[in-house]
Amino acid sequence: MPKLWLAANWKMNKTVSKGHVFVARLVEQIPGLVKPGAGEVQVLIFPGLISLQSVATAARDTTIRVGAQDCYYEAHGAFTGEVSLPQIKDAGGSAVIVGHSERRHVLGEDNQLVAAKLRATINAGALAILCVGELAEERDSGDAQRVVSEQLESALANCSGVTERTLAVAYEPVWAIGTGRSATVPDVEEMAIFIRDRLVEYIGEERGKEVAIMYGGSVKPGNLSGYMSIRDISGALVGGASLDADSFAALYIEMAGQ
Ligand code: PEP
Repeated sequence: MPKLWLAANWKMNKTVSKGHVFVARLVEQIPGLVKPGAGEVQVLIFPGLISLQSVATAARDTTIRVGAQDCYYEAHGAFTGEVSLPQIKDAGGSAVIVGHSERRHVLGEDNQLVAAKLRATINAGALAILCVGELAEERDSGDAQRVVSEQLESALANCSGVTERTLAVAYEPVWAIGTGRSATVPDVEEMAIFIRDRLVEYIGEERGKEVAIMYGGSVKPGNLSGYMSIRDISGALVGGASLDADSFAALYIEMAGQ
């Protein structure tokens, strides 16, 4: 398994043609991404669903993995507008972001729905990046750990088949996402240790210690290395700074230089 993870969440940005151009430019900047390079950093790109297949095709001869920003938990059926794991995998996706804060807080997903999506992703053998994180008022009232612990416990209850190949956890304080206000390194470190302990409690010592924990929230070139110096952090989930291939390449170089 890779030691480090660098994930790009494009959210509802970029057209199909811009997706191709991004991959070509990224590979130009980081020639080591062309197979069979087995670098320390695993790049994952989560384009809008409409671009998933074409980005996967553009990334075909590289080590880049492509995934979906969301999924539905049923495999098929009358669920208008939803997309299933078999469809994602058939289009070239091998990972899913589950429980992103925009899905929880803008689109109304609760812990129960997140848990069902996590189970579906893991059962399909794809990598789930499970996002957890507190709102600003929850941090201010001292509830950050309680919220994160509830999100983890509800997602992981009744979830079998969890390994470091099927699960990574992204700690994304909601107040830091897309705001330019990133969390401090000591705050992330404290939460990463807390998440590690909860993982050990919920999925057992061996697997709990192996699952990657990532940080997300206004990561940009220049602030990434601070987070990567935290022992329990082995990756980053990046929104805004992943939209430009040059800035994403700069993040890759910063991470690989760790
Ligand atoms: C995200 O989309 O998960 C994210 C962390 O966004 P940003 O980097 O823009 O804060």
